[in-house]
Amino acid sequence: MNYSRFINAVSAARKASPIRILTELQQRSSPSLISLAAGAPNADTFPFKSASISLENGSSIDFDEVLMKRALQYSASPGIPELLSWMKDLQKSLHNPPTASFSPERSQLEMCVTTGSQEGLCKAFEMIINPGDNVLLDAPTYSGTLAALKPLGCNIINVPSDEYGIIPKALRETLSHWRLEDVGKPNNTVPKLLYTIPNGGNPTGASMTTERKREVYQLAQDYDFLIIEDDPYYFLQFEKPWVPTFLSMDVDGRVIRTDSFSKILSAGLRLGFVTGPKPLIDRIVLHIQASTMHTSTFTQLLVTQLLQRWGQEGFLNHIDSVVEFYRKQRDAMLSSADKWLQDVAEWHMPAAGMFLWIKVKGIQDTHKLIMEKALEKEVLLVPGGVFNIDSSEPCPYVRAAFSLSSPEQIDQAFQRLRALIKESM
Ligand code: PLP
Repeated sequence: MNYSRFINAVSAARKASPIRILTELQQRSSPSLISLAAGAPNADTFPFKSASISLENGSSIDFDEVLMKRALQYSASPGIPELLSWMKDLQKSLHNPPTASFSPERSQLEMCVTTGSQEGLCKAFEMIINPGDNVLLDAPTYSGTLAALKPLGCNIINVPSDEYGIIPKALRETLSHWRLEDVGKPNNTVPKLLYTIPNGGNPTGASMTTERKREVYQLAQDYDFLIIEDDPYYFLQFEKPWVPTFLSMDVDGRVIRTDSFSKILSAGLRLGFVTGPKPLIDRIVLHIQASTMHTSTFTQLLVTQLLQRWGQEGFLNHIDSVVEFYRKQRDAMLSSADKWLQDVAEWHMPAAGMFLWIKVKGIQDTHKLIMEKALEKEVLLVPGGVFNIDSSEPCPYVRAAFSLSSPEQIDQAFQRLRALIKESM
């Protein structure tokens, strides 16, 4: 792969910070090294001395004074080494990415830690996109992605999708606008990337099938574009075996995958990961060096201690219990939807994630219904339009999350929604 097409001038101009390199060197070196180099503060002056964090099983994670000093100090921009190596092992076990066995000359698989997957997504877009570039995605999509993409001045092209994700035939048709023989020529306008949420899409709850992923990957090869696989709901799949990922199919090194611990360990700790070919991950790390410098060392150490204690098996057991919680929530929402909304709306059963995407019958646009009338009746939902590329376009959908409310509250909310829809019809 020639990645130069996927690195814009701003990203290409990024240079490694000499100070950051020294910080990383210092962390790797022996205790006898005397460093007068780093501009790090002296942790002895910090007011925090130790910490003990209780876990649900009654045990605790302890930060003694030594560990606490490290937690309070600057650390390496790609992430702390222990967390990175744990995560690389996990990625290999879960996805067996072909790029993991590439030689260093062939753009091996690399990872970095980000402050939530949002940071990784935003930095990936800012690395690749120039104003006017064509970008493919299946809207309605995550509003945080639209918020990161739109200011970059790219031309966002909507690819038709359904409850099983992007429709490959429709993608092929969209791409037929460009001639295959122009791919790779300078100044061609072939899209540089396709963005998708492959599991439990936010807001649609859609999950892409393996077959469709294979076809989309083939098109990415034909037209030489990158795939950004934004998969924060991967661990919230309700059926096993989990669906193979784009990363698992990536024989070229054209997939950038973002993972998140927000839905399974904590959203507030802000831990995400970007996995992809080394030349691109290196560019993202240079951007991190110049912006956040690194994700919180304390957060990374806390989670690493937990993961090391659990091992992969313990981690996956925890995921099982999280999935069971969301399955019950989803089923409760589906049964309330059946009870109250059957004649006024339609939906499909989400196979992953935490959202039900409801199409209200007989209403062209749900904005007023939700933002004015539903608020008065004390029920909060998201009008579907905010997930469209052009949010002012009328949209008959609403997004309902089954993550936080109790089954009784969900039932009441849908009873109120039904009354509102009936009034508006
Ligand atoms: N991508 C999708 C599809 C999301 O739904 C979210 C959050 O809701 C994110 C990315 C960002 O997640 P975080 O930055 O918390 O990892």
